[in-house]
Amino acid sequence: MAPSAMTRWIKSLSEAQPAPYWLEDPGKPHPEPALTGAETCELLVVGGGYSGLWTALIAKERDPRRDVVLVEGREAGWAASGRNGGFCAASLTHGLANGLTRWPGEIHKLQELGARNLDEIEKAVARHSLDCDFERTGEIDVATETYQACELRDWYAEMERRGLAEGTEFLDAEAVREQVDSPTFLAGLYDRRGVAMLHPAKLAWGLKRACVQLGVRVYEHTPALTLKPYGAGLAVRTPYGEVRARQVALGTNIFPNLLRRVRSYTVPVYDYALMTEPLSADQLASIGWQNRQGLGDSANQFHYFRLSADNRILWGGYDAIYPYGGRVRAEYDDRPETYAKLAGHFFTCFPQLEGVRFTHAWGGAIDTCSRFSAFFGTAHQGKVAYAAGYTGLGVGATRFGAEVMLDLLAGERTERTELEMVRKKPLPFPPEPFAWTGIALTRWSLARADAHGGRRNFWLKTMDRLGLGFDS
Ligand SMILES: Cc1cc2nc3c(=O)[nH]c(=O)nc-3n(C[C@H](O)[C@H](O)[C@H](O)COP(=O)(O)OP(=O)(O)OC[C@H]3O[C@@H](n4cnc5c(N)ncnc54)[C@H](O)[C@@H]3O)c2cc1C
Repeated sequence: MAPSAMTRWIKSLSEAQPAPYWLEDPGKPHPEPALTGAETCELLVVGGGYSGLWTALIAKERDPRRDVVLVEGREAGWAASGRNGGFCAASLTHGLANGLTRWPGEIHKLQELGARNLDEIEKAVARHSLDCDFERTGEIDVATETYQACELRDWYAEMERRGLAEGTEFLDAEAVREQVDSPTFLAGLYDRRGVAMLHPAKLAWGLKRACVQLGVRVYEHTPALTLKPYGAGLAVRTPYGEVRARQVALGTNIFPNLLRRVRSYTVPVYDYALMTEPLSADQLASIGWQNRQGLGDSANQFHYFRLSADNRILWGGYDAIYPYGGRVRAEYDDRPETYAKLAGHFFTCFPQLEGVRFTHAWGGAIDTCSRFSAFFGTAHQGKVAYAAGYTGLGVGATRFGAEVMLDLLAGERTERTELEMVRKKPLPFPPEPFAWTGIALTRWSLARADAHGGRRNFWLKTMDRLGLGFDS
């Protein structure tokens, strides 16, 4: 790489705020008051990200008389839900390939439930006037290496053979560059209906407002500290109060779970993103991005990118950083060396945009589990339900997880609770230093595979055989 190019890329970051672009929106609502004193309710939801908010909202929609309280440790949507890429995918399984490998027998059902879930999100956006820039634009997975183009073509043929290609089309180099013009694009798979783009923080804030309007009592700056049985129900202690509830739903994602035994199923893996300034009409025309779909490339270390409502480009992904010890810490949210790398990759993809500046750069923890899609469970004789492990594809799937938690609390057998994906758990992560070593070896091997025509080494093949493999 020429030093001058590197200097220009770094310069493009010189004014970037180290903060999530989405959370700086002027529409950010005031927080609801913290809980002081005692509360009682039928259902207590812990966590004000999408998981918790959908759970509270759907609980009220299922039964408007249900008495629901939600407590959030900081402010609704401040964590992953307010800082993600805003790709709201139908997939419940972190992509079709992962779902097909793990649950071949129920993949058609999982795809159908995922498509219905995305339809329900679209309907809820309209029903509750959730002002979140929801655009059902679809997504293109692009190949930037010849071997990836061959893999995409083969994968599309396989999808067709299995009857899973509906709504998806294969694009050759010319066709993909007609959609979005990058000299690096060699082929693409265009899923026209299975993904929507949205403003992540505005979705979380809209869900909070809808919850409050339906009568959910929301308390912010109210961390739940302990969860204990109390009479026929449960008691949750907070710094200045206590909530007694008949049932509890935990939507606490990667933060220390109130149920200790759930903690070893997830580790935080940090993901980073940049946001450009708004593109001018000429800049936008130079890349021809008219249909506003999201894009992702098909390497193991992949990028995801999309337009915002005001035509900025969000550009994220590639590095996936696991901090030794697996803790969630604010200091990990900022990583200049990753920003520099991402900026370089951005201008390699879109050389037409030389001179564009980044206004924001940030990171966040992804709740990664060993099967790369959510898991579910209950505790305290079915009075507590939890869902976690969305592994970077929770914008859409958390709504499905909310339905599962409510089904489990109702003790109902539904098409969701019958799924093997819901009934079985992933393998837990081992303690340190094994977790760090295993994850570091996997990252190194994935980077090596990307640099060597996609060839997976002995470690990755072993992980694949154990059902722990990651293949984007
Ligand atoms: C940088 C980044 C990019 C991503 N991009 C995408 C994407 O484009 N598409 C996609 O599908 N997914 C993406 N994801 C993942 C997605 O954002 C998450 O899967 C999703 O937001 C998870 O929602 P959640 O409600 O489970 O978790 P969170 O949003 O983390 O919410 C959990 C909430 O629980 C609260 N909490 C925790 N413990 C307690 C407690 N004891 N008491 C009270 N409150 C508590 C926290 O304060 C937090 O607000 C991305 C994630 C990151 C970090």
